[in-house]
Amino acid sequence: MAATYDAIVVGGGHNGLVAAAYLARSGARTVVLEGRHKTGGAATTEAPWPDAPEFSVTRLSYVMSLMPPTIINELDLPRHGYRIYPMGPYYQAFPEGGSIKLYADDAKRNHDEVSKWSKKDADAMPKWDAWLEGLAEVLGPLLLTVPPAIGSRKPRDLADTLRLAWRHRGLDVRTIADVTRLMTMSIADLLDDWFESSQVKGALAVNGVIGTWAGPYEPGTAYVMAHHSIGDVGDGHLGNWGFQEGGMGAVSGAIERAARSHGAEIRTGARVARVLVDGGRVTGVVLDNGDEIRAKVIVSTVHPKIAFLEHVGKENLPDDFVGDIEHWKSRSGVVKINLALAELPDFTADPGSNLQEHHTGSVEMAPTMEYIERAFQEAREGRPATLPFSDGVIPTAFDKTLSPEGTHIMSLFTQWVPDDWNEEPHTAELEAYTDRMIDCYNELAPNFKASILHRDIVGPYEMEHDYGLVGGNIFHGELSLEQLFHMRPAPGYADYRTPVDGLYYGSSATHAGGGVCGIPGWQAARAAIADKKAARRTGQVRRIIRRS
Ligand SMILES: Cc1cc2nc3c(=O)[nH]c(=O)nc-3n(C[C@H](O)[C@H](O)[C@H](O)COP(=O)(O)OP(=O)(O)OC[C@H]3O[C@@H](n4cnc5c(N)ncnc54)[C@H](O)[C@@H]3O)c2cc1C
Repeated sequence: MAATYDAIVVGGGHNGLVAAAYLARSGARTVVLEGRHKTGGAATTEAPWPDAPEFSVTRLSYVMSLMPPTIINELDLPRHGYRIYPMGPYYQAFPEGGSIKLYADDAKRNHDEVSKWSKKDADAMPKWDAWLEGLAEVLGPLLLTVPPAIGSRKPRDLADTLRLAWRHRGLDVRTIADVTRLMTMSIADLLDDWFESSQVKGALAVNGVIGTWAGPYEPGTAYVMAHHSIGDVGDGHLGNWGFQEGGMGAVSGAIERAARSHGAEIRTGARVARVLVDGGRVTGVVLDNGDEIRAKVIVSTVHPKIAFLEHVGKENLPDDFVGDIEHWKSRSGVVKINLALAELPDFTADPGSNLQEHHTGSVEMAPTMEYIERAFQEAREGRPATLPFSDGVIPTAFDKTLSPEGTHIMSLFTQWVPDDWNEEPHTAELEAYTDRMIDCYNELAPNFKASILHRDIVGPYEMEHDYGLVGGNIFHGELSLEQLFHMRPAPGYADYRTPVDGLYYGSSATHAGGGVCGIPGWQAARAAIADKKAARRTGQVRRIIRRS
């Protein structure tokens, strides 16, 4: 006999866990089916060195920002272990000498720092911050908006589109122009309009290319910068970026505990092979061991190519939709490098291996825009970057749970390797790439190389084959313009519903994803719960009509 639930969640990444928590909270008997041996997906803390189990790394994602207070509060996440240490400043030391620090909330110190490189840029900085804040006020709430099916003539879709337009009736010509610029420009062109010094532009360009298969001169990278810079998604002020105590796996752990507290069941080692569809409706899933589990509601949170092309099957989907998912772009050329350090980097520009402010934020290797662009161009030509760029962090500056007293963990989010490195492990080349990355930091902090106790390298092949991140893209799909808002994951299906009745979709490949924000899982569960309530109301009306 197949086990039966009210709802099945496919994938136990943080979005799957959020969806499960909300479904269970609504009273649905819910089970999460996770293929790996543990939950968390890309939000995971692991001990990658068998001979040094005392070190834990936040193996893929590494910092929190966009989780809305609604989810944090409704799921009571702090009670379940959600604890964030706000990050320190952005820090870049330069090979030619000197350094820059940029603070999220200290205009005076930013002015002093930027003045070291350009007085004009220092004066422009507060205007830039205000400009970005103005745009965040427009874009932030949009992250919590269910995108309407723009172009659809169905009355409900037309009403949704009009409601969205009405909500934005206050925008003026200037703001619309600014949003248009942000959505269409390259981060390089945008920064050229504002700043002159290469050090400042390099510093501000990083957010435009994180996780992106595009260099800073590609149109659309200005939006990527905004996606990573919005600190408030419209339902309260969010802090800056921050480190979860215990690494990102502890975020997943907190959500998992919340889901369990509402009665959700969570099964690991339960890989889904097929979603069962009968007459255009889901009826359950089959696991790869042949077990069948039945439910009338399924929320899938795995990569769209797995969710639709493998699990549902083209035969159960409209041709247009199949085409859209087949064309879904999912490249990024990211390599995550996790290091255990015997001591903190001692930067020539800011000497000392004792804990200092510049160790507490992002410790970057992105000295100029040209440096970042060169790394991308090499990867686009099919070679790993000679000098990769890196968004580094040292979470143990705050979090003492990850490594023994006196030692540290450093996490390097690096780019780029060629976009087809998801097809082969490229082990030896990744080792050489990591050596080069370490040499780059060593040039700025000469104790760096010698301080490394252990290293762990996760390239695109492992991301795809072990974590289900098809193509190695960190967000289940690129944040390119044609894959945003009403197009994410496909036109007509950006409302977390799918062409199959009873099947909802809430991975990072939907609007507001990617990132560890939980919004896709929350929205998919809300859509399922709303549809169930609507069906119950319709059933009641039908019964009343039949009785009368
Ligand atoms: C290297 C890297 C760095 C990143 N850095 C950050 C960061 O610092 N901050 C940030 O906010 N975001 C970051 N991200 C992005 C963020 O981690 C992801 O967008 C997010 O975690 C995805 O969550 P998800 O639940 O949608 O999907 P996932 O986390 O991918 O979860 C999907 C789950 O489904 C499981 N699965 C797959 N196939 C099956 C199947 N057939 N049956 C059952 N289960 C299956 C997978 O094992 C996985 O656990 C990073 C990502 C990467 C890879």
